[in-house]
Amino acid sequence: MDLRFTAEELGFADDVRSWVRANLAPSTRDKVLNAKRLSKQDYLDWHASLNERGWIVPAWPREHGGTGWTAIQKHLFDEVLSEEGAPEIPAFSVKMIGPVLIAFANQAQKDYYLPRIRSGEDWWCQGFSEPGSGSDLASLRTKAVLDGDHWVVNGQKTWTTMAQYADMIFCLCRTDPSAKKQMGISMLLIDMKTPGITVRPIITIDGAHEVNEVFFDDVRVPAANLVGEVNKGWDYAKFLLSHERTGIARVGRSKRELLRLKQIAQQELQDGMPLIQVPAFRDKIANLEIDLMALEISGLRLLSAAASGKAPGAEANMLKIKGSEIQQRLTELMMEAVGPYALPFNPEARQLEWNGEPIGPEYAASFAPDYFNYRKTTIYGGSNEIQRNILAKAKLGL
Ligand SMILES: Cc1cc2nc3c(=O)[nH]c(=O)nc-3n(C[C@H](O)[C@H](O)[C@H](O)COP(=O)(O)OP(=O)(O)OC[C@H]3O[C@@H](n4cnc5c(N)ncnc54)[C@H](O)[C@@H]3O)c2cc1C
Repeated sequence: MDLRFTAEELGFADDVRSWVRANLAPSTRDKVLNAKRLSKQDYLDWHASLNERGWIVPAWPREHGGTGWTAIQKHLFDEVLSEEGAPEIPAFSVKMIGPVLIAFANQAQKDYYLPRIRSGEDWWCQGFSEPGSGSDLASLRTKAVLDGDHWVVNGQKTWTTMAQYADMIFCLCRTDPSAKKQMGISMLLIDMKTPGITVRPIITIDGAHEVNEVFFDDVRVPAANLVGEVNKGWDYAKFLLSHERTGIARVGRSKRELLRLKQIAQQELQDGMPLIQVPAFRDKIANLEIDLMALEISGLRLLSAAASGKAPGAEANMLKIKGSEIQQRLTELMMEAVGPYALPFNPEARQLEWNGEPIGPEYAASFAPDYFNYRKTTIYGGSNEIQRNILAKAKLGL
């Protein structure tokens, strides 16, 4: 197995890099590189630029706008975008419901929704988790009952990321309460403007509004908005989640943050010595870098296996575990690097327009909110404990 990139692959990465540098708004880049909050418009603008270039849905089949790139090219594309400070396009439309619709929707649904996903016209959110149904998703209770040519939906979803921006939600609903729990679930596509839907913010520990509760009270959804077959929603959800877990390791982002950590450790002094030269701290950076390199190589091993036709198995779960832990360790070391200056908890510091007086270096002002925000990475996309259970079963035979 040769894990080095070919000259063509490196040339491809250079082309992507030049294009990003010429097309990404500097203010958006600044926000991403300095861990500031992005607005809905920042995401939409970047989505539009990628769409215009023909790069918004690289992994889709060519007939639906895909690029036909190899797995390595797709990997390099993601890496370069992260390194250059491009916003991560929320996965819900392009990487989640899009592939599900391509695989399971009828022609009318494909014709209507896929162009709107590519253009960014519809912002999608994911209505899977409910209070009491997260890891045990199949126990979900939001129900849909057929009434003439409409489904009537009642229930509650939670942790719904960016539902406050969404035009559409793809929703798992119980349509046969008497069936075995995985068998009685269907997937509905619901317009967020339908009467009876209420979105309530959940403010997370970092003071941010990223997630929401979504309530459904007698929400009437056209029968035509059912994906695939009734009571087959669990199959579509599993297909969708396999897409969610790939890419969640976010190696490119962690490489970028590691670089930032090193720059900060150059500037911060301990007893007059740059922190990066203090052996105890240097060891921590080195250990993190080694783990990150190992993660990257593991990701490439998977890509290489995929290129020779082997489907990624439980290895994807391993990447999620290690990737999320590394992301958290980076936020911990950022805090440690600035010592007491990380203590003031100031969520407003994550707004680009914040012009408050930072206590200590300006870059330290967002470290505490960032640290708290990143507690999420070991929970979402299937908690790390659940990933370990899957690995224990699939790889260790326990
Ligand atoms: C920031 C964020 C954004 C999210 N966005 C969305 C979204 O957009 N749409 C959506 O549908 N969902 C979303 N989620 C929900 C996410 O998928 C769930 O939080 C996750 O699946 C865990 O479910 P839970 O929160 O109900 O925790 P629980 O399932 O109640 O788990 C609680 C704890 O128990 C552990 N645990 C549970 N079962 C087992 C077991 N069998 N063995 C060992 N340990 C176990 C878990 O690991 C966890 O530590 C989001 C979550 C977060 C934090």
